Amino acid sequence: MTSHLTTGQRALLQAELELRQSRLSQQLATHQEGRTRAEHARDVLERDYDDAPQRAMDREVDMALSDIEVQELGLIGRALKRLDGDDFGLCTVCGAEIPFDRLKVEPHAERCVACATKFETAVRNY
Ligand SMILES: [Zn+2]
Repeated sequence: MTSHLTTGQRALLQAELELRQSRLSQQLATHQEGRTRAEHARDVLERDYDDAPQRAMDREVDMALSDIEVQELGLIGRALKRLDGDDFGLCTVCGAEIPFDRLKVEPHAERCVACATKFETAVRNY
């Protein structure tokens, strides 16, 4: 079975995935570095000031951002691995072809629109 995507379309998606991968890795490094520095600053400042709640919140935000980035990096890594396989661009749930237009926007999409909507609704209602 061959994918509905042409070689050119795959190449384009691969370039897009690699671009996002390197951009995300950089962002992630920045956030993780920021967290380490914030922790160091806290050790130094804690004795004199009492704005710990604010610092804790900054840290939460950084951590949440890092979580999203780690998650997306995982998806991108998986997509890059699947790129050469016959099932790239096919919905992992129902096997339907994911249109190239959707993949252009979200090259690491693993589900067709119908399954993604179902999945998101399920997550929201969880
Ligand atoms: Zn599907």
